[in-house]
Amino acid sequence: MSAELGSGGEPLEPWKYPILLEVIILSDLSRKSVLINLLTLPLAAAAAVATVSEASAAAKTPQNAVQYQSTPKGNAKCSGCKLFLPGKDPKAKGQCQVVAGNISPNGWCVVYSAKS
Ligand code: SF4
Repeated sequence: MSAELGSGGEPLEPWKYPILLEVIILSDLSRKSVLINLLTLPLAAAAAVATVSEASAAAKTPQNAVQYQSTPKGNAKCSGCKLFLPGKDPKAKGQCQVVAGNISPNGWCVVYSAKS
């Protein structure tokens, strides 16, 4: 099983970013998102789950670790993601609850979780 999902061939390593693990485990992300992320986790990630309670104090996940792009993926985009924190207006960049940096409302990453 390949764990190389990064755009640069780098492995997606959510265990390095406890806040990302917390989102994967505790939120009701789509089954597809959870499956994609869990398939990339080695057994060592199970040990990291024990530290999930510390995740809220952790830094946000770098954009390249979640394959963030400033363009939509099909119909999926940050403005439709439950983790997006909008900017001043609908076209302004905002923030993400788990991904670092300015986030385009038209962006996307592998943690995308559609608003219900
Ligand atoms: S798609 Fe990714 S970067 Fe965009 S708001 Fe959702 S989790 Fe954050």
